[in-house]
Amino acid sequence: MTVLVLNCGSSSIKYQLIDPMGPSRLAKGLVERIGEDDGVADHAAALRQVVDELENQCGPLAELGLAAVGHRIVHGGDRFAEPVLVDDGVENAIEELAPLAPLHNPPGLTALRLARRELPDVPHVAVFDTAFHQSLPPVAYTYALERSVAERHGVRRYGFHGTSVSHVSRAAARLLERDPADTNLVVLHLGNGASATAVRSGRSVDTSMGLTPLEGLVMGTRTGDIDPGALFYLHREAGLSVDEIDTLLNRRSGLLGLAGANDLREVHRRAKAGDAEAQLARELYCYRIRHYVGAYLAVLGRTHAIVFTAGVGENDSWVRSHSLAGLRHLGVEVDHVRNSFATSRAQIISPDGADVAVLVVPTDEELEIARQAAELTAG
Ligand code: ADP
Repeated sequence: MTVLVLNCGSSSIKYQLIDPMGPSRLAKGLVERIGEDDGVADHAAALRQVVDELENQCGPLAELGLAAVGHRIVHGGDRFAEPVLVDDGVENAIEELAPLAPLHNPPGLTALRLARRELPDVPHVAVFDTAFHQSLPPVAYTYALERSVAERHGVRRYGFHGTSVSHVSRAAARLLERDPADTNLVVLHLGNGASATAVRSGRSVDTSMGLTPLEGLVMGTRTGDIDPGALFYLHREAGLSVDEIDTLLNRRSGLLGLAGANDLREVHRRAKAGDAEAQLARELYCYRIRHYVGAYLAVLGRTHAIVFTAGVGENDSWVRSHSLAGLRHLGVEVDHVRNSFATSRAQIISPDGADVAVLVVPTDEELEIARQAAELTAG
């Protein structure tokens, strides 16, 4: 069985040809700089290039017997709690959700429409970043905002990184030799964007990202949590427009805004060289993680593991050990030898017999999309 996975961003399309049962990729690639001067003209041209590259690697697409095309769509609002088979109604619904994710949903939708035209005989499945968090209870997804306004405009917590958290949660349960339905986890997805999620019995019950992917942890270029009053203050006293504040909080803050670099490897380099701003930036990054871990241990009660994943979570032993430092009284401890030797396999980095295990589990969003698409089309 073969599934084509398309992950379309504002200026790139990533693609992978995957057998959902097997770990290896049949083909993969990336078309970048869509709409830039020296790049590909637009998403239509980019998708054409994806098809050409795939056919160069594997022969005619029509002869591959594709079981499905899986599309990553960022925002499914409260309409989509599961992956769906795409028809015109689903396309329209994704279009209506665009104001909630203006940078992400429109390119995803463009690629979806073009791919349906290119491959009309193959089922197309939309897999939403928000879907896994549709299990949040009202106490976790409701903002204490005037009800009528919140409801009219859909202002609530949706959460993101759901495809990754879903994949990692099952892999974590497997590593612990537990049934996912009987496993409680705090999952820390730390990539360019970063989020924490409380998973109870295999379902998301709280998550740090909210209406948009701006809330919660400190990220590469995003503030994470900040007093909303600061925005009014910046508008009134500093004279910044709404768009300027949006850019400031989403693109010029986080590690970049604090230390001048959004990549933690560079922040570490500067911190070790004595740069006080970089030292504070990485401390704050870990402090915010610890803050959410504490909150979610309280939300979950009995917790079986804390799980690190994505670019930073899988690779940065310093962040792992610093963010969980001083939590031994809660049963949380990192074994420094295991932590420093962690590889790209899923593994346990807490000492044997710890109350709460600490895990490093590689994420694989594309495989998860392929698996969900295959499951939907087979069923
Ligand atoms: P995305 O969120 O775009 O999917 P990733 O999950 O791949 O991205 O994470 C990318 C980030 O991971 C990079 O910005 C970088 O800061 C971080 N990263 C990657 N490798 C390392 C490493 N060895 N040490 C620390 N951070 C790393």
